[in-house]
Amino acid sequence: QVVNYAPFTLLPSAVPSVLFEQAYAVQQDFNLLVDAISQNKEFLEHTLASTIKVDDFTARLFRIHMQVLEEGLAQSVFLGINRSDYMFDCGVDGAPALKQIEINTIAASFGGLTSRTVAVHGRVLKVLGKSKEASCLLPNNPSKGLALGITKAWELYGSQSAVVMFLVEEVQRNIFDQRCIENELWNRNIRVIRKRFRDVFEKGSLDDAKRLYMDGQEVAVVYYREGYVPGNYNQQNWEARLLLERSRAVKCPDIATQLAGTKKVQQELSRPGTLETLLPGHTEAVARIRATFAGLYSLDMGEEGDKIAAKAIADPERFVLKPQREGGGNNLYGEELKQVLEKIRDSPERTSYILMDKIKPQPAMNYLLRAHSPLQVSECISELGIFGVYVRQGKEMVMNKAAGHLLRTKAIEHADGGVAAGVAVLDTPYLV
Ligand code: ADP
Ligand code: MG
Repeated sequence: QVVNYAPFTLLPSAVPSVLFEQAYAVQQDFNLLVDAISQNKEFLEHTLASTIKVDDFTARLFRIHMQVLEEGLAQSVFLGINRSDYMFDCGVDGAPALKQIEINTIAASFGGLTSRTVAVHGRVLKVLGKSKEASCLLPNNPSKGLALGITKAWELYGSQSAVVMFLVEEVQRNIFDQRCIENELWNRNIRVIRKRFRDVFEKGSLDDAKRLYMDGQEVAVVYYREGYVPGNYNQQNWEARLLLERSRAVKCPDIATQLAGTKKVQQELSRPGTLETLLPGHTEAVARIRATFAGLYSLDMGEEGDKIAAKAIADPERFVLKPQREGGGNNLYGEELKQVLEKIRDSPERTSYILMDKIKPQPAMNYLLRAHSPLQVSECISELGIFGVYVRQGKEMVMNKAAGHLLRTKAIEHADGGVAAGVAVLDTPYLV
């Protein structure tokens, strides 16, 4: 049994305050958008049609989504916890711009651990004799904001004796992050249980009203910290997932919301007119959302896909090639992008990917502290995430908030990868 400290930067990283504020200001809009997509069966069906022909994982999620809709939704309270991630793109004129990398609608992590990093960086600055700078660090506690969302959903579910179930990994590498949120719930007198898919398969059941029971305990909210990559599933786990989705319990997220966070959906959102259709009457929200979009391109079969594939093969440094996968380390860049795209350019296989403009932030020097790694100064770039939380009861939004932020920093030699992938480390923004 080995416990390591979570990796972190020695120093906080400079973040332009205008972009930081912009990221917070657009979060409620993104919450509305994700929620709207999750309720739009036609949009999901149409958008994912080409993807599910070639991507078995997305297809299986989609089949559960359709099956649950056909049976009729037992769930009437919806809880979304997401994290919208951005980088600061340096345009030709040098002024940095906020550009969304992706939005995570399932198992968005590090809201717990990052609630502790301000204290770490505050201490480091004080040790360096920079107590004035230390006092400028913004307080940040996403675990509380996320727990308030879970609490609201639990209350609306309306059963005092029901528990919140964290659906956790087989091997729990990030348990302390989850415990921060769990503790907030216990402090509010809400019972939390931690279970794996296999536990649900063995001990989960539904009653006549599709109430979910685990070991005889009623479950009000299922908070997924697992279930977002193919490796999380075997046949039994798929059956467990179906059982959870059919239940009346509040799933965070329900399967439709998970699908709303796919990269294919992200790419479709950038088409002219799509946001307007999804959020009718929300002109300003649409403008705020669109301002954060980088160039995104479909590789669906046809002229449009042919053209962009040729462009990316000719100039691979301008793009990132993304499959429908989560968790870091899946994207293709540079020479590798070129080789893969050359191989699949004439095959429907290419439709399991999207292309995105590569964001190019200005690097800064920092030390990355990681257990068992030598200490060295590196040229680094950062990615800012804003946590969103919302609760909907039937058609009515009863909570819609930004719940805090996460700054992750990595050395520039890594094109890809998050904290869990062993590449990025936890950081704190120092607003400039
Ligand atoms: P995942 O679901 O695997 O987290 P992301 O879209 O977040 O997928 O990509 C993983 C990482 O790759 C990001 O954290 C970022 O470091 C890098 N990355 C992704 N998209 C871009 C992009 N358009 N430009 C530059 N880097 C990118
Ligand atoms: Mg990511």
